[in-house]
Amino acid sequence: MIQNKEIGWNLDNSYSRLPETLFEQIEPAPVSSPGLVIFNNELADFLALDADKLKSKEGLDILAGNKVPEGAKPIAQAYAGHQFGNFTILGDGRAVLLGEQVTPSGNRFDIQLKGSGRTPFSRGGDGRAALGPMLREYIISEAMHALRIPTNRSLSVVTTGEPLMRETELPGAVLTRVSSSHLRIGTFEYVARWGSVEELRKLADYAIERHYPTIEVNEDRYITLFEEVIKRQASLIAQWELVGFIHGVMNTDNMTISGETIDYGPCAFMDAYDPKTVFSSIDVQGRYAYQNQPPIGQWNLARFAEALLPLLHDEQEQAVELAVEVHAKYENLYHAYWLSGMREKLGLHNEEEQDEPLIEDLLRIMEKHAADFTNTFRALTLDEPGTTAMSGTTEFKHWYEQWQARLGRQEESKSSAYQLMKESNPAIIPRNHRVEEALEAAVAKEDYSVMERLMDALSAPFAYSPEQDKYAELPDPSCGPYRTFCGT
Ligand code: AMP
Ligand code: MG
Repeated sequence: MIQNKEIGWNLDNSYSRLPETLFEQIEPAPVSSPGLVIFNNELADFLALDADKLKSKEGLDILAGNKVPEGAKPIAQAYAGHQFGNFTILGDGRAVLLGEQVTPSGNRFDIQLKGSGRTPFSRGGDGRAALGPMLREYIISEAMHALRIPTNRSLSVVTTGEPLMRETELPGAVLTRVSSSHLRIGTFEYVARWGSVEELRKLADYAIERHYPTIEVNEDRYITLFEEVIKRQASLIAQWELVGFIHGVMNTDNMTISGETIDYGPCAFMDAYDPKTVFSSIDVQGRYAYQNQPPIGQWNLARFAEALLPLLHDEQEQAVELAVEVHAKYENLYHAYWLSGMREKLGLHNEEEQDEPLIEDLLRIMEKHAADFTNTFRALTLDEPGTTAMSGTTEFKHWYEQWQARLGRQEESKSSAYQLMKESNPAIIPRNHRVEEALEAAVAKEDYSVMERLMDALSAPFAYSPEQDKYAELPDPSCGPYRTFCGT
């Protein structure tokens, strides 16, 4: 039998030293025949885990939930959340946190199994996950990481050998997620609703220690925590907007305190630029449409502030005043992150007052001509404006001249502007039809080669290599509009 230290597990359980209201101890439920279908060697190395040993029979038993590694103290986390605006009690209904892997450099990462069986938070669910959605989470989370966007990551997907009953019968799977923590706005909402102020303080101190260790120990530390989370969320959402990523379920239980993207359910990348784009079949009102992500981020942060109120000031009125003042900073922060990212996308090294109208003008023309979001910036980066959907139009020609003149007014050379664009505009993103094609081959035919080639291309989205060209191609128009479903 392979010993823990041979695999490299070095687990701590700081979260389970928090008040007991925050979790339930639970063992992952065993599965009949674990089969490894995808494994992230690079991430294993990063975590100082031995990839080969993890891929062996003993290792697989851990990734499937049949055995727990030494040092693990499996728990399901309690949390609440506003789902589509309504407060609900949730919790890990199909996930188990094994512990926190502490790497040789001292960094700490949650190791969580998703699809690992029922927990006290499962309500009517079976606690399991289907193979397709777990592979989808694997592909998109790793693509986001390669896009340099803060995100939880995926270590492996293991099939269980047990079918699930959904609308049809589907193969079951367990995904191993790696995250700098799973603290959510909803975790704070849960304690604010059910716990004591002391428990809330312990949670906030824990979040500070884990994600914002430079915040000093003084009476302002909780309002500072609020402000720091605002900055990270504003930055994160700006990064989503800049690559056309639509999260799809921005409920407060899916928004992290660390500022990482989590919960890859109905998310997808926008093709043609349209601010109203929604992919999720359950988002009928378009609450989480592309254009609504920034204001929803602010709405979610207001829920965080409400949960923090008892820590901000003894007098509620003054606590509210403080929270409102800091909460109002979100808009400018978000806007500054977005604008600076857009400048980079257009190769602008410096700032001019008219930059924003120039950007807005381009977006307006793109929307009018249904130009593909990623490929428009790719074409500009490659200096091939003639290949965009709007190239023949007078308004685009006029815009292009203005932009070229703007590039000419900065000190940096044109080649340095194009270099900046290459570093800022991905040549490829996980295109919906490519993701579907990979999932179809994997799930229906057990052919993982399509997914592996896709993952390979997505691992270097800024490479601009000729092999990537086919992943930049648009879907056949006969495919019709893309729809996503909550992966359960
Ligand atoms: P999500 O849409 O992934 O954010 O999940 C919302 C809530 O539903 C969370 O509390 C999940 O743990 C729970 N959940 C989702 N799928 C299942 C399932 N198959 N069994 C039990 N709970 C589930
Ligand atoms: Mg969730």
